[in-house]
Amino acid sequence: MPIQSINPATGILMRSFTPLSGEELMQKIALAEAAFTQTAELPLTHRALCMRKLAHLLEEEVADLAALITSEMGKPITQARAEIAKCASVCRYYAEHAARILAPEPIDPGSIDAFVRWYPLGVVLAVMPWNFPFWQVFRFIAPALMAGNVGLLKHASNVPQCALAIEALVRRAGFPRGCFQTLLIEARQVEAVLADERVAAVTVTGSESAGRAIAAQAGWLIKKSVLELGGSDPFIVMPSASLDAAVAAAVQARCINSGQSCIAAKRFLIADSIYDDFESRFAAAMDAMQVGDPMLEDTQIGPLATAQQREELHQQVQAALHAGARLLTGGECMLGRGNYYEPTVLAGVPRTSQVYREEFFGPVAMLFRVADIDEAILVANDTPFGLAASVWTRNRAEQTRFTAELQCGAVFFNAQSASDPRLPFGGIKRSGYGRELSAAGMREFLNAKTVVTAQQAPTP
Ligand code: NAP
Repeated sequence: MPIQSINPATGILMRSFTPLSGEELMQKIALAEAAFTQTAELPLTHRALCMRKLAHLLEEEVADLAALITSEMGKPITQARAEIAKCASVCRYYAEHAARILAPEPIDPGSIDAFVRWYPLGVVLAVMPWNFPFWQVFRFIAPALMAGNVGLLKHASNVPQCALAIEALVRRAGFPRGCFQTLLIEARQVEAVLADERVAAVTVTGSESAGRAIAAQAGWLIKKSVLELGGSDPFIVMPSASLDAAVAAAVQARCINSGQSCIAAKRFLIADSIYDDFESRFAAAMDAMQVGDPMLEDTQIGPLATAQQREELHQQVQAALHAGARLLTGGECMLGRGNYYEPTVLAGVPRTSQVYREEFFGPVAMLFRVADIDEAILVANDTPFGLAASVWTRNRAEQTRFTAELQCGAVFFNAQSASDPRLPFGGIKRSGYGRELSAAGMREFLNAKTVVTAQQAPTP
């Protein structure tokens, strides 16, 4: 894909960039390697100071940074500001908690004199998507830099200005030169970066196809990889739930980031006794969502990030209708400039259809009626993905069963699924492997070195 910023609300090309040459790429990798030696020697307190400065810069410049996000990928401006605030929070989280997470861990004290000590791996490549162009990168940078790793970013081709802005912020926060660099490269150039022996590991957030290609190469090279891929998360509502709260959260959960979120709720599984009520209220609330100019304060759904994204979404909706789904609202591209798509609700998409097994990356919800908890769990797990689940029930016994039986990386009861610096984030099945955020995320790119000291007779 060409490296270009195109405003999704207007279709206007704002800037385009020439990809780095092979030689320029090698220079950047060499700089990263040199920066690793320098960074690893910095005291943790100094890195924490830089990380806090980074949080401060983000907060100070939130207006401009949010406007950049919105103009490059169409996120409603209020959500873009929230994204920047969240980036500041993850910087502060790791500035505060890195010392605890990186502390040596004694193993079974009393039986053996052994510790685990944590060491950074070196240069880590991050291949990132456009949907949260700052947050996806910051949840990599904050733990990586605090641990003493250095980062190379291959960002999505449609958000190059966000990528460059992040590099500048990290530098201005005081991290040594080369600690974090944006590589303006095309997807096909990733192979050469990963193959370079100075690059130790890779993290990918994106589609299955990107994850599969990069992980296959990483596996062959025997380099550590973490994959955060797609999702088709269930949102389950049982009879004991508050319907008002569940409907309101369902709309938010489906429409956040104009529906372009990996952990957005995508399949809504509603208990039979409340289904009809939920269906009518949910469809009406989706229909009432304010779609429009993402720069306006009251806009709730902006344009989709690219014209291709909208075209693919529309084809999926068409396929679902062709397969026999009922259309409750929406279902069309909106007329005029910009990649706008109507908030759409489909009911009864056949589970035998191909499209049922796909991820809808836009404001399109699929509703299903389920007889009881057994069927809710069965349908929830009937997907190739396994990222998160949002379950609405006040029944403790049901909560216990959902926790044990849902095939996913996180379950949220009576709340919308969301990422949070304190919580491990990641999936199973074709949603990927490994975790981001929390202590677990920081340790993905660390060497857990076991140190054993045998008892010896004292020297005379
Ligand atoms: P994508 O096409 O896979 O792009 C993601 C990144 O991978 C981009 O930087 C892209 O570069 C690069 N890329 C694509 N194919 C590649 C290849 N064969 N080799 C090397 N790099 C490659 O993903 P997307 O469709 O833009 O993003 C949406 C997807 O990301 C959805 O499936 C969503 O669920 C997932 N996602 C997951 C999470 C999570 O945490 N689990 C979070 C956010 C998004 P170019 O832009 O140059 O093609």
